[in-house]
Amino acid sequence: MASSKTLTHVFLISFPAQGHVNPLLRLGKILASKGNLLVTFSTTNSAGRKMKKAGAAVSGDPTPVGNCGGMIRFEFFNDGYSDDSDKEIHDYEAYFSMLETYGKKSLITILNRLKDQDSRPVSCVINNPFVPWVSDLAEELNIPSALLWVQSCACFSSCYHYANSSVPFPNGEQPDIDVHLPNMPVLKSDEIPTFLHPSTQYPSVGKIIVQQFKNLSKTTCVLIETYEELEDELINYVSDQVCPILPVGPLFKSPLLEVETAANITGDMIKADDCMGWLDSKGTSSVVYIAFGSHVILNQEQFTEMASGVLNSGMSFLWVMRSRLPEEFLEAACGRGMVVDWSPQPQVLSHKAVSCFVTHCGWNSTLEALSTGVPVVAFPQYGDQVTNAKYLVDEWKIGIRMCRGGEAEKKVVGRKEVEECLREATCCVKAAKMKDNALKWKKASEAAVAEGGISNRNLQKFVDEIRGL
Ligand code: UDP
Repeated sequence: MASSKTLTHVFLISFPAQGHVNPLLRLGKILASKGNLLVTFSTTNSAGRKMKKAGAAVSGDPTPVGNCGGMIRFEFFNDGYSDDSDKEIHDYEAYFSMLETYGKKSLITILNRLKDQDSRPVSCVINNPFVPWVSDLAEELNIPSALLWVQSCACFSSCYHYANSSVPFPNGEQPDIDVHLPNMPVLKSDEIPTFLHPSTQYPSVGKIIVQQFKNLSKTTCVLIETYEELEDELINYVSDQVCPILPVGPLFKSPLLEVETAANITGDMIKADDCMGWLDSKGTSSVVYIAFGSHVILNQEQFTEMASGVLNSGMSFLWVMRSRLPEEFLEAACGRGMVVDWSPQPQVLSHKAVSCFVTHCGWNSTLEALSTGVPVVAFPQYGDQVTNAKYLVDEWKIGIRMCRGGEAEKKVVGRKEVEECLREATCCVKAAKMKDNALKWKKASEAAVAEGGISNRNLQKFVDEIRGL
C-alpha cells in the first residue's frame, strides 16, 4: 500500500453544520477512494468533539478508505469559541465574523505546518458555503481552491443573480414581487431562499452567501451536490452563462461508499439510534418517516397538532425528535410508533417499510428522498427549504405541500391538515403517481453515480485536475 507521504493531498474545510459536513465528508471519502488521494477533512473543534462523542472515527492519522490506497484523516480548527463550549449558535452575524477571524488564523497555521513538513503539502483546498474566506486564504497561500455547493443548482442560480443584481428580487419597496430567473419556474416571493428576502431575520446569512459569489472567480472549480437529470437545462445554462459547474451528486449514492473500508468514518454529530430492526418488523410501505434535519424545532403548539394528526392517521411512524416527548403520546400510539434522537437517515429512506417522508426539505434530505424514491410531505421552514419544497411539489412532482414556510409564516398547521396530507401522500391515485415519479428520480440518480454516469465522470475529471495541479 502507498504511504500517505506519496499521495496527492486535498484539504477539505467545512462550515460546522450537519447539512454542510455530510456532503463534504462524503466527497472526501469518494475522492480518497477514487483518486487514490490523501484527504484531510477539517471543521471546527466543537463540531469535531460532537463527531467523536457520537462515535465517529475521526483520527488525525491517515486511515485507509476504499481498495486503492487512498486515505483520510481529520484535523480540527479553532473558531474562537472556548474549547470546552458546545453552545448552539444564535447570533450568526457575530459567529460568522469570529469564525473568519479565528478560523483563518488557525487554518493558516495548520496549512503552513503541513507544507513545512514537506511530506504532505496541500495541492487543493475545497470548502462548502458559509466559509467564503477560504478562497482568500487559499489565494494567499498560493493553493488552488474549489467549492462544493451543497444546495440545488436552482439555489445556486438564485443566489448568483441576487448577488449580481441581474434580475429584480423582492426589496423594501416591493417585498412581494415574483422572481423571474432564466431556466427556472417563476418563484413567488416566499419561494426564494428566505435569506435573500428583505424581511429575513438573518441578513448576515444572506451576506455570507453573497460573499461566496463575489469570490467565485478565485475558485478553480465548482462542484454541485445535484445530478444532471434533476436540473439539466438549468445546469447547462449556469455552466454556459455563469461559471463552469460539475454536478457530482447524489454523493451518498456513490458505489464507492459501499465498498469503503472505514464505515464508521461519519459526520454524524449525534449518535444514530438503531431503528432498522424495528423497520424490519413493519410491512412494506407502512411507515411514515418524520424528520426535520438538524436545526428545525417545532414549537409546542405545532408539535401537538403534528403529533395528533399523525396519531389520528392510524399509520405507523418513525419520528426523529430531540426534545422530550410526552409519555401519553407514545402510549396513544400503542406500539405503532418509534421516536429516536437521530436516525441513520439514508438507510431509513432506503428501507422498504417507509412509505413517505415528512420533511423540512433541507437540500440533503430532499436529495436523499429523490434518490431513494420516497414521496414527501413538504414542511419547509426557512432558507433554501422553501425553494426545495416548490421544486419537490411542482417540478419533480413527488410531494404534497403541508405549508409554504418562510420566516414570515407564523401559521400552525392543524391536525386535520396533517392527517389529510399523510393520506394524500400514501393512499390515493396521486400517491401512486408520486411514487412512480420518485422511482424515476431514484433510477436517474443511480445512473448518474454509476460507472460511466455523468456525476461519476465529473468526479473523475475533478480528480484528474487535482492530480495535474
Ligand atoms: N440526518 C440523519 N439523521 C437524522 C436526521 C438527519 O442522518 O435523524 C441527516 C440527513 O440524512 C441529512 C442531514 O442530516 O444528510 C440534514 O441535512 P439537511 O440539508 O436535510 O438539513 P439541515 O440539517 O441542514 O437543516
